[in-house]
Amino acid sequence: MVTSHTTPPRVYINESVSVLLPLPLTGPYDYFVPPNLAVSVGDFVSIPLGRREMKGVVWGNGKGELERKKLRNINGLLDIPRMSSDLRLLIEWTASYTLSPLGAVLRMSMSVPSALESPRKRIGFLPSENLNNGQTDSRISLTNARSRVLSVLKDGCPRIAAALGREAGVNSSVIRKMSDIGLLRKITIEEKLNMDPIDESLKGPVFSDLQTNAASILVKRVKRSNESNNKNGFSVTLLDGVTGSGKTEVYFESIAATLAAGFQVLVLVPEIALTVQWLQRFQERFGARPLEWHSDLTGLERRLTWRAVISDEARVLVGARSALFLPFRSLGLIVVDEEHDGSFKQEDGVSYNARDMAVVRARVGDFPIVLSSATPSLETFTNVQLGRYKRVVLSKRFGGAILPEIHTIDMRLEQMTGHTWLSPDLKRAMKKTLNDGEQVMLFLNRRGYAPLTLCRQCGHRFKCPNCTSWLVEHKFQHKLCCHHCGYSMIVPTNCPECGATSDSLASCGPGVERVAEEVAEYFPESKYEIMASDTMQSLKASKKLVQRVQAREVDILIGTQVMAKGHHFPNLTLVGVVDADLGLSGGDLRAAERTFQLLYQLSGRAGRAQRSGKALLQTFQPDDPVIQALISGERDKFLALEASARKRHGMPPFGRLVAIIVSGKDYKRVENVARSLGRASPSGTGLIVHGPAAAPLAVLRGRHRFRLLLRADRDVNVQQKVRFWLSRVQIPNGVHVNVDVDPYRFL
Ligand SMILES: [Zn+2]
Ligand SMILES: [Zn+2]
Repeated sequence: MVTSHTTPPRVYINESVSVLLPLPLTGPYDYFVPPNLAVSVGDFVSIPLGRREMKGVVWGNGKGELERKKLRNINGLLDIPRMSSDLRLLIEWTASYTLSPLGAVLRMSMSVPSALESPRKRIGFLPSENLNNGQTDSRISLTNARSRVLSVLKDGCPRIAAALGREAGVNSSVIRKMSDIGLLRKITIEEKLNMDPIDESLKGPVFSDLQTNAASILVKRVKRSNESNNKNGFSVTLLDGVTGSGKTEVYFESIAATLAAGFQVLVLVPEIALTVQWLQRFQERFGARPLEWHSDLTGLERRLTWRAVISDEARVLVGARSALFLPFRSLGLIVVDEEHDGSFKQEDGVSYNARDMAVVRARVGDFPIVLSSATPSLETFTNVQLGRYKRVVLSKRFGGAILPEIHTIDMRLEQMTGHTWLSPDLKRAMKKTLNDGEQVMLFLNRRGYAPLTLCRQCGHRFKCPNCTSWLVEHKFQHKLCCHHCGYSMIVPTNCPECGATSDSLASCGPGVERVAEEVAEYFPESKYEIMASDTMQSLKASKKLVQRVQAREVDILIGTQVMAKGHHFPNLTLVGVVDADLGLSGGDLRAAERTFQLLYQLSGRAGRAQRSGKALLQTFQPDDPVIQALISGERDKFLALEASARKRHGMPPFGRLVAIIVSGKDYKRVENVARSLGRASPSGTGLIVHGPAAAPLAVLRGRHRFRLLLRADRDVNVQQKVRFWLSRVQIPNGVHVNVDVDPYRFL
């Protein structure tokens, strides 16, 4: 599939090569391959850099900028399989598209430096054999601590001292002593991942006709890709189906076909912490779990997973966006689940969109990619319309489930008493649902208790000292927190401005905690839980909550957008959206699209099995086109409307945007750089630069921020323009210029 697999690569001996290092450098450096060594492009090597030893990747021919005697020798070849050509091409493509240093993109592929070293052998402990035979020295006493250690080891699995100590609740000196006096014996353990074999030949679930048809189209694309050596394996397919239409099981069939052909599969998901149910379904279909890649992994898991990926041992890996840059050796399929999700966009460091770069990886690797969504992004929808992407539609809900009805509650007409957020209409519907023994979900995209606290005496508003943002009250923690930088303070007893007592401090507006308070008051008999990113930080916590909801131990689930993704709660039949207008006021390019996607997905949470569901949207703007489109359920009509508006204004995907963010601690310096950039800004047909202007988030983490925004027609080479533009302005120390091609946030 990838050319490097078929044609033997050129071997370099006794000559110079260029080596790329995982550092923010724009290109590779030349090194000399000594006579005792032979390397090829893609090999991992160790090289000297200054006084340090570094690891890098052989990138190509030497550039010949240094004469031979100034070149330093490569130290050695690492015992790791070569980096595949599709990954090297992806790295080059990403660097050039996002205007990032090549080495900074390589660093995303070499994100686990310790994985480059040979696996360590470690000392583990087991009970000594004498102990099992009952032949212990009677003079050795079995203290409580020692008994605990032995009972941990009863399962027969050896453990290293640290893990054993942690599990038994003893410190390592106890273990050392037990080993010295012969209660424990040492054995060497090799680091290994727990990988059960994935079996693609297991039988999948029974499909509807629609699913069978969709699966066979996807499988055909995988097969064509595998059979052809003549480069036409690449295809992009949008798997388009409402929530509950069985998309996951359908793309599982293309995974099975890829595995059967001997290739690896990558599944990208927005937030791995939210895929508990996905993992269950995968295990049911394939008999084992896939490898995972996310922030919850330990250092050891990270290292072993990286090696399993490059050695071809890992067959299927599911991960968050950074998994795209893992060094798969023989990738044959990528699936991007919930392709519309904004979290595929990375904003720190190299600003890239993992969905778009995944399409690039599939293209340079010449294999198929499947984008799956119930609410495709406008970008993907447009690519389908233009015939660049294919589309497979799964329109009916699986198992005969009925789509939920969506209604608005006009908040202008509702009788609301002070400090309540749930309208009488919504409360009535909740009551009925609960009486019928079914579950309710309340959605509000705001963590915490109240988004703003102010003093009624003097009007003082609590602001973050580091950011241009209000502090959000978190009542359970008794804190005021900044959601941008993490700053927090204890809720004060007096106003810091006028000294008024705490009863003058008013909480303004609702967050999920405040809605929960109202729920507790009106439905004291019902059990509720809050589901927000700060209450479900780990995979474990998320898993537990999902299980409790499934087991019907929770009647009312209150949460933020983390609830909208991928969960399957068959007994949940009412979704109440506390403030459907919230996202609409965001004012950025994708506000309408994002709100539509979110509310559409949420509504889909209601009534997925045999029960029909209902979604109620509380709104002050029932006539807004987004709200109207939601009620009518005409998704494609909404997308077409949105597309024509973007087209009119030359906005993505019909035009290009590049954001330049200038930041630094010294206001004057930052402003000067921003002004210089403004003066040097490119001009020409089909291109305009807005700004510089102070960013809406004018201060973030103590750094002042200015923004410029370039808009260009699609046929303008914006990378070339921006590269030239930035080269004309001197950037002093202490000022950072960040380039964001295809920006998603405009704060
Ligand atoms: Zn005050
Ligand atoms: Zn802050």
